[in-house]
Amino acid sequence: MKLSVQPMTLNLKTTFRVSHGASDQRHNVLVVIEHNGLVGYGEAAAVFYYGDTQESLSAYINALPPLGEDPFLLEEVLNSLPPGPHAAQAAVDIALHDLWGKMLGQPLYRLFGLKPAPLHQTSFTIGIDTPEVMAQRVKESNYPVIKVKLGPDDAEATVAAIRQATNARLRVDANAAWTPEQALELITRLSQYHLELIEQPLPAGDVESYLWLRGQLRARGVPTPIFVDESVKTSHDVAAYAGAVDGVVVKLMKTGGLREALRTIHTARANGMKIMLSCMIESSVGVTAAAHLAPLCDHLDLDGPLLIGNDPFSGIRYDGANLFLPEGPGLGVLPISK
Ligand code: MG
Repeated sequence: MKLSVQPMTLNLKTTFRVSHGASDQRHNVLVVIEHNGLVGYGEAAAVFYYGDTQESLSAYINALPPLGEDPFLLEEVLNSLPPGPHAAQAAVDIALHDLWGKMLGQPLYRLFGLKPAPLHQTSFTIGIDTPEVMAQRVKESNYPVIKVKLGPDDAEATVAAIRQATNARLRVDANAAWTPEQALELITRLSQYHLELIEQPLPAGDVESYLWLRGQLRARGVPTPIFVDESVKTSHDVAAYAGAVDGVVVKLMKTGGLREALRTIHTARANGMKIMLSCMIESSVGVTAAAHLAPLCDHLDLDGPLLIGNDPFSGIRYDGANLFLPEGPGLGVLPISK
């Protein structure tokens, strides 16, 4: 198998601000694995809060030892990858799965034993701005499911303005921006706006605070489910949060690919937790790969290709918030010729 990597820089349609920072471009990489005349595609997203860059991801992939000559030995090949960025490992995992499907002539969802339709609707993400601008974007987007990024300031004013602008289902992502006391007061007040769920209100790694928060919210009769994203990267992190939160957010760039994403999903289920399948800012390569697992999940947050203006691939198709998996073998993604 011949492995190569190239930069894939994605332009955001509007500046994307979350509580960790803001950006206009994302510097991802495309991984290509060629084998017996077939080509497998994979993608790694360089997420700045994990310390990854286009250069560090490329360097990791360029330094990998040969992957061998059998793409069906997924477990062996993936387990032999040296420690490194999970996003880069995900790109290799995704490209191998693409090859696997192409060699068998079947789309991935069929190889996973899954029914491709109907899928849950995806949310559309609104980055942090003033409450007025965010409400305006919600109105213009006209999506039935909205995910709102919130920081420590203006949280209630923002949700109030957005709720006034739309009847959409609303999810909130605080990206670890709140203290436990802040979170308790905010989530209590925000519950009047009928939120579907709140993602990562507290910093990662603070299981005790999540347990406390859940106890306090229950005592107050606040029903809003709490999901963790930054707190849970792989299946190994799930059990610690059982009983402390309602669900986990699964992303291929955190798990290191489809294989470990499946394990994370099943571990969360076994611990009685719900699953939201999500993505970083990724092209149709990474997001289509994730979407093949969508039938296993309760909520979808797969809007990456909707946020970028120069997607180099076709794959997953959107009709508003409705998602359709491609029919082609493997991922079913195709390069868009320029
Ligand atoms: Mg999140």
